[in-house]
Amino acid sequence: MSSEVRKVIIIGSGPAGLTAAVYTARANLQPLMLEGEPSSTSDQPGGQLMLTTEVENFPGFPEGIMGPELMFRFREQALRFGTEIRTEKVSRVDLSARPFGVWVGDPDAAEPTYRGESIIVSTGAQSLMLGVEREAELIGHGLSTCATCDGFFFRDREIAVVGGGDSAIEEALFLTKFAKSVTLVHRRDELRASKIMQARAFANEKIHFLWNHVVDSLEGEGALERVQVRNVQTDEVSPLEVTGLFVAIGHKPNTDLFKGQLEMEDSGYLVTGLRGGATWTNVDGVFACGDVQDHTYRQAITAAGSGCEAAIDAERWLEAQHDG
Ligand code: NAP
Repeated sequence: MSSEVRKVIIIGSGPAGLTAAVYTARANLQPLMLEGEPSSTSDQPGGQLMLTTEVENFPGFPEGIMGPELMFRFREQALRFGTEIRTEKVSRVDLSARPFGVWVGDPDAAEPTYRGESIIVSTGAQSLMLGVEREAELIGHGLSTCATCDGFFFRDREIAVVGGGDSAIEEALFLTKFAKSVTLVHRRDELRASKIMQARAFANEKIHFLWNHVVDSLEGEGALERVQVRNVQTDEVSPLEVTGLFVAIGHKPNTDLFKGQLEMEDSGYLVTGLRGGATWTNVDGVFACGDVQDHTYRQAITAAGSGCEAAIDAERWLEAQHDG
């Protein structure tokens, strides 16, 4: 049975994908969105905002809004203009010929489940996590992966940041604006961060360093109350009295599906801005937006902005195909 051809298929349903859906739906392109399936990571419908509590920096919500509520509203807006949203996870894509093939379920099925004249990739990224117990339960309740999003809630508190790279230092420096003190927990006795970032961190009186330590376990009823850290040289475990823990050990873009088909950096982020427009990838008719192609800004508002760009790029590209 041959699969139905859609004008636009949007893969992923965070702020970028849902904004692309609003715009392509209002352009009468009847987008099909494959939103993913529920999971405990940011690789799920709604993306990383589903794992945050209050969002105070999204313009238009002066009183703040909960992350999941914000994504619900994005979704309602996309539905209102006729986006078809399916709670399905893509298992394979074939971008070698048009219309492009998209599979859900069995990736070895002979025929793709859907075909798209164009595809918008908005599969996002996920923060690397520590892999200790109770992470999924405490995220948004003292445990965070985004200082810009959550730092404000830790005013005058004792908090810690895990990691030794530029992200960890950037997060730690930012958090000193709010916190009473910031302990940087790093598994070695030397930072990976650039020298200039290191110098800034060493010069900041609020930042303390806990070298050669890793987080062993998380404690607290309903919210983080304490962390147990382990000295990697002696194996000694000791408590660290912090009520906030920011994990900054890197991000991983959700690009496994596109390996060998879309151009990506060594880190796995998709390369965009090729030839035609800001969201063009190396394959004509495939556009990428949001965190899957942005390791610099990584904000809901910037992701939404690039989702709008992807929709406009797709619309113009489709028009050019039909005119030609
Ligand atoms: P990164 O450079 O890969 O650093 C990750 C850090 O986390 C490392 O210090 C690593 O320790 C530690 N780590 C990894 N897994 C861990 C684990 N399971 N437990 C404990 N610690 C763990 O990642 P990033 O800091 O996110 O930076 C990514 C890229 O973006 C880099 O190229 C960076 O320069 C760039 N960036 C630049 C800026 C800026 O210029 N303002 C800001 C942010 C990021 P080890 O050191 O022992 O490996």
